[in-house]
Amino acid sequence: MWPKGLSKTTLTKLNRLGIRVGFDLVLHLPLRYENETRLQTFDELNPSISSLVEGTVIHSEVVFRPRRSLVCQLSDENGKVVYLRFLSFYPSQQQQLTVGKRIRAFGEVRQGYFGLEMVHPKCLTVDENTPLAQGLTPIYQTTGGLSQNLLRKNINRVMDELDLKDTLPAELMGRLGRPSFHKCVHLLHNPLPEVNQQALIERTHPAWQRIKLDELLAQQLSMRIHYRKRRSKNAPMLPSRNNYTEQLLSALPFSLTKAQRLVFSDISRDIGLPHPMQRLLQGDVGSGKTIVAALAALQAIENGYQVALMSPTEILAEQHYIKLNEWLAPLGIMPVWLSGSLKKKEKEVTCQRISAGETMLAIGTHALFQDKVEFKQLGLVIVDEQHKFGVQQRLALRGKGEEPHQLMMSATPIPRTLAMSYYADLDVSVINELPPGRTPIVTKLVSDARREEVFERVRQACLSGRQAYWVCPLIDESETLDLQTAIETHQMLSDAFPELRIGLVHGKLDNAKKAQVMAEFKAGKIQLLVATTVIEVGVDVPNASLMVIDHAERMGLAQLHQLRGRVGRGVAQSMCVLLFKQPLSEMARARLKVIYENTDGFEIARQDLQLRGPGELLGARQSGVPMLRFADVEKDAELLETARALADELLRDYPDAAQAHLQRWMADRHDYLHV
Ligand code: ADP
Ligand code: MG
Repeated sequence: MWPKGLSKTTLTKLNRLGIRVGFDLVLHLPLRYENETRLQTFDELNPSISSLVEGTVIHSEVVFRPRRSLVCQLSDENGKVVYLRFLSFYPSQQQQLTVGKRIRAFGEVRQGYFGLEMVHPKCLTVDENTPLAQGLTPIYQTTGGLSQNLLRKNINRVMDELDLKDTLPAELMGRLGRPSFHKCVHLLHNPLPEVNQQALIERTHPAWQRIKLDELLAQQLSMRIHYRKRRSKNAPMLPSRNNYTEQLLSALPFSLTKAQRLVFSDISRDIGLPHPMQRLLQGDVGSGKTIVAALAALQAIENGYQVALMSPTEILAEQHYIKLNEWLAPLGIMPVWLSGSLKKKEKEVTCQRISAGETMLAIGTHALFQDKVEFKQLGLVIVDEQHKFGVQQRLALRGKGEEPHQLMMSATPIPRTLAMSYYADLDVSVINELPPGRTPIVTKLVSDARREEVFERVRQACLSGRQAYWVCPLIDESETLDLQTAIETHQMLSDAFPELRIGLVHGKLDNAKKAQVMAEFKAGKIQLLVATTVIEVGVDVPNASLMVIDHAERMGLAQLHQLRGRVGRGVAQSMCVLLFKQPLSEMARARLKVIYENTDGFEIARQDLQLRGPGELLGARQSGVPMLRFADVEKDAELLETARALADELLRDYPDAAQAHLQRWMADRHDYLHV
């Protein structure tokens, strides 16, 4: 329900802000507050602090240098002056600021050429008796043509008209000891003078805490409900039969780490149940997720069900295919490979084999889940690097079997708080140790100015029998430019080092060529591999022990960590050189510091979350889950714990309240979340 008399244009603008129903206005809480409750004397003013001052205009003129602007001098009783500067202005403003007027101005103070000045302050014409604001002034996110005043007015009208009673039952409210929803939203939209202003601004005030708790609770409820819905469906039981799995384990040249064993036992138990597994397998890069996936696949196959293994890139899919083929062929299981770049005829033959049930394991890119592919009896879907896939792709994939079990793997570790919130609809297993015998990677930060030295180091490494990667930078997300840089770098390195065998791999190479280059690198025929970030995920060549990442300052933390994880897979001492170009932005500097100081993917992810918020870590998942507007999973970790427990309790004891709460917070957005 909307406030009465709301114009159509205002409505359109509100929609643009994501405000779709009247209640959304109530939850359109202030971005921040301005303090206009106290006048500051001119002596008290400090640069870069927003302040409210009052004085008389003693001079006002339009100047033309350095550019056209309106400049006024505001004077206090003692003749001290503050400049007000407007780079764009209306005639009405010029009028307002004529000599002799008494003006109250609010804005950030800065040190200008002539003295203290405010640029584009908010101005009010006043007399001696004009009262000051009683409480803090809320400032809202808004959009062109929708003034703060209009927003404020409509929010207050909606708050008067709508029912703001608590969604949480009275018993729970009593126990939680938190202020009522009604009281909180009123306070946040119209803070009273006596409210602790600091707490309001920092969002630690009990009213903010209550709102954040409500928001987290809605997210938890939504995800738990979907989790339960899916778990109530039927799936084929694929219990452990210790046939193929035992055979593979005894053929491996290594034994599983304790973490791998524990994780596999989770999966093994889950897929033996008559409900679909929804499990996220997390493990740092190099922790050995592939073998766990292979074992899970074998358990399904032992039960006569097919398995699909989906990877985000062709290189990765191909590599999985090679690896699994190596492991499974001795057991008489022949995987097939399916990708978008297969020839039409090959694709048809492969699809045929899948639908006839002639193959038990199909490995590929998202081509696996196009309409034409039909499985005879799909029991398990494994998605590698799950964060690279969007909701649509995962939905498509689920449509392929009745309700197959799902194993999602992620090499970008997800901090605990994020897993508890955005992944609350999944069960999570973690491989928390690396296989033994790895030597830690040495990371070096080297300025671009010392490029020549890096060249020499690469040359030495290759000549002494080791292999190296040269990773080319990302250029403005443009694949074409990435490509060009990679080709040029390859040329340049080839000219500089005629004695080395140098290969090139990038996303635009055709499949056969890509596979050939990777195979040659793996076999040691290529010593130095120039690559775009296509090698970011999953590539596994243990003899490669040196990696140079060019323009490392352009890459995100997760990406750097993934890339670096391509070395340090063998016993040789490995090194990762991060070449960066000066000057560094503050964010780039912070990122490089994190990657330099840490090797643990979980710690890197946690710091990434602090630096940049959850967006990047969530990847494609962002589009599928309700994002948080007020709560911050790291800072509000305690509230998150409370919300989690509360969600379970509500669903168990107060299902109606749970529904009402979801309705209030999610309205139509609830159904959005499905996979
Ligand atoms: P990721 O988790 O990054 O996908 P992989 O599955 O590619 O890691 O494994 C990295 C490397 O470690 C591979 O060469 C793999 O064969 C090897 N590996 C996996 N598990 C073990 C283990 N328990 N002991 C020794 N090596 C292992
Ligand atoms: Mg992998």
